[in-house]
Formats: sequence, structure tokens, C-alpha cells
Amino acid sequence: MTQLELLSHGQEFLWINPGLGSERSCSLTQSDIDDADARLRRFAPLIESCFPETASSRGIIESPLRGIPDMMHHCFPDVPGNLYLKMDSDLPIAGSVKARGGIYEVLVHTEELALEHGLLSGIGDDYRKLCTPEARTFFSGYSMQVGSTGNLGMSIGIMSAAIGYNAIVHMSSDAKQWKKDKLRQNGVTVIEYDGDYGEAVIHGRQLSDADPTSYFVDDENSKELFLGYSVSANRLPSQLDQAGIPVDEEHPLFVYIPCGVGGAPGGITFGLKERYGDHVHCFFAEPTQSPCMLAGLLTGRHQEICVQDLGLSGKTHADGLAVGRPSGFVGKIMESLLSGEYTVEDRRLYDYMRALYSSEHVFIEPSSCAAFHGLTFWNEPAMQQYLKDSRITHPENISHIMWATGGSMVPEKMRIEFMDTYL
Ligand SMILES: *Cc1c(COP(=O)(O)O)cnc(C)c1O
Repeated sequence: MTQLELLSHGQEFLWINPGLGSERSCSLTQSDIDDADARLRRFAPLIESCFPETASSRGIIESPLRGIPDMMHHCFPDVPGNLYLKMDSDLPIAGSVKARGGIYEVLVHTEELALEHGLLSGIGDDYRKLCTPEARTFFSGYSMQVGSTGNLGMSIGIMSAAIGYNAIVHMSSDAKQWKKDKLRQNGVTVIEYDGDYGEAVIHGRQLSDADPTSYFVDDENSKELFLGYSVSANRLPSQLDQAGIPVDEEHPLFVYIPCGVGGAPGGITFGLKERYGDHVHCFFAEPTQSPCMLAGLLTGRHQEICVQDLGLSGKTHADGLAVGRPSGFVGKIMESLLSGEYTVEDRRLYDYMRALYSSEHVFIEPSSCAAFHGLTFWNEPAMQQYLKDSRITHPENISHIMWATGGSMVPEKMRIEFMDTYL
């Protein structure tokens, strides 16, 4: 079978990107990441005062990196190298990777409005001015809207409501009830759709476009989301240093990230490639029934193709990855940066989730667990060839980072349910 046939038959497989290292088509650079990083620092005092759980990091939204040797030993005893978990599952405020991009985009718009209307005198001003009652009244005259399968809505909704916006989240049928409940408790308006994510986005955008005081977060094309995610790469190096993990020619970094529309894994990959170049190797993980980014990359058709065009259902338990059409903006940037992708069946997500819990006492949500499947392809000829082509002669020096994209906010009742799923 060709790779496209494997994809459209819903098979699990590893795809190595033949375009890696080709000429880049991206106008964004490290200075755009630094700019986003600086903006997040400007807002840190405001975030700290709105969200006391960020006090220990002084309003910087960041997650720990931890070694998970027992998981490695338990699940992948034959794979060389060390295994780590980047715990965006524990990011404050939204409990998922979306706390990076989603919150960042809300802040970009907030800063623009505040500067334009004189709430801030300049970017050197004290941003805590934006959480006074007067500022809240001002922001309540503006709306913030987004279409979401769940986690993006949580991040945008909670942050927007905290600032005082009229926050509206358009949710697809995949979205979990507890996320809708949590948003409503936070004062967010949740509009539900029977159809998939695409439909929620279309209606949300229409509603927002009709209202001049409304801002729509466009998950498929947003440069701001992408840059918000990319800031993770400015912060990871010091965490690696602290853990005594070198990254260089002799010590490559392999990073495995679950992919939905592509913004989060794309932004992280872009940032890491800017930082580490050829010493970092990034792979995306997608469900076998909704591998939209891989469909776009494999065919070169990007946002012009959706998984339904290939005869796939688009349905998956991995709600964070239940996206039928990829971001073309991200896909084009990934053409030259991404090392590869792999697809994974839903039932395995729960096995990895249970294995991580029993070996390391860490809970992450099923979508996040898609990352782990990357290591099952280790001994396949395609991966071995990739190592050869990348001149990696000491694979025992590899640091493998699984990017845990969500989980800490999943209610206990759901966790228990997940633990029994596909047993
Ligand atoms: C959103 C999300 C992703 C993927 O992010 P995209 O920007 O949609 O590619 C991965 N995991 C979880 C848990 C998510 O919520």
C-alpha cells in the first residue's frame, strides 16, 4: 500500500518527511518569538494578580519537564535514550498546551485595545491597571469569540472572562460536557453545535464578523496563537540545562507532539528548530481517523484537503485532536521543519494513559497520550534510515521528550471513566 492508502485505510504508520531541510517558506523568525516572549513578561504582573496559582512563577505560565524512566522501562525497554515528559498538561489557568497560544492571543488583542484607548500609556506601563473595575467595564464592551473542540475554548474563555470581555465559545459536539460547564461557571457564553469543529468555527466567525466590537480567534490561520506556542522553545533550554540534559550534535533531542489543527505542535516545532536547528527532531502524532495535518503534508494540499475526503470519519476519542482540516499556514511552515508524523488508534491512548499512571503516577488526558506511540516505530526500517540520514550514531544519547498537551483539569469522575475505557 502507498502511504496515502495507509492513511485513508486508517492504518497506524510512520511517515518520514522527505521535505525536511528543504528551503524554508516562513517569514517568521526568532525575533518574532522574542517579541511574544517579551509581551508575556509585560503581562506577567496582571496574570499573577488575576490568577493566584501563577504566583510561584510570578505570572509566567510555564510547565515542568520531568524524567519518566519507569515509563520508558515499562513500555519501551528496547528504545535507546532517555524519556522525559513536558507537562503542559499542568499549565496553570487552562490545564493544556492552549494556555500558551490561547492566552497569548487574548493578551495581544488586549494590549492593542488598551494602548489605542489610553488604558495604558505605553508598553512600559504597569499592566495591572488592566484589572481595575474601570478597565473591566471598558473590556465588557468588547467580545472575544472562538470555535473549539474544548481546550482552546477553555483557554480563551477563561482568560477573556478574567479580563472582562464578553466571552463566547462555539463548541463542537466532541467537546466534553465538563468543559462547557466549567466555562459557564466562569461567566463564558457557550454555544453548542451538533456538527464537528469546522461547523462551530464557521458559525462563530460569522457571528463575530457581524459585530465590529468582536474579535474572533482563528485557530486555522492565527499567527498569534502560533507565536504564543513558540515561546515554549525560549524557555525549554534553561529547563534542559537545569536537568543536565545537553542538546548538541552528539546529544540529539527528539520531540513528540500530538497534533490537531497544527498550531500548537507547529509553534513549538518552529521555536525549537530556531533554537536547536538540526539537533532537534520533531514528530507529530495524530489519530488514525483524523490525521488532517498528515493528509495535508502528504498530498501537499494542506487546508484544501480534509480527512473526510479520504473516506475517514474524523471521529476520535482524542477530543483535542478531532480536527478534520489542517491549518495551511502551519502545514506550509512544517514542510521544511518537521521530521515526520505517525498515526495512532484510539484504544492505545488509554493503554499509554494507564501505563503512565501506574509507572509514574502522572495523569494526562487521552489526546496527550498520542505522543507515546512514536517510540513503537523505533525499530522500523523508516526510522532506522532516518537515524542514518541524520548521522545519529549514538542513539543512546537521545533525549526523547513527550509533549503532554493536556490533563490537569480533567475531573476525577472522568479520570475514573478513562481508566476503564478500552480495557
Ligand atoms: C489542541 C490540542 C492539541 C493540538 O493542538 P493544535 O493546535 O490543534 O494542533 C493537542 N493536545 C491537546 C490536549 C489539545 O487540546
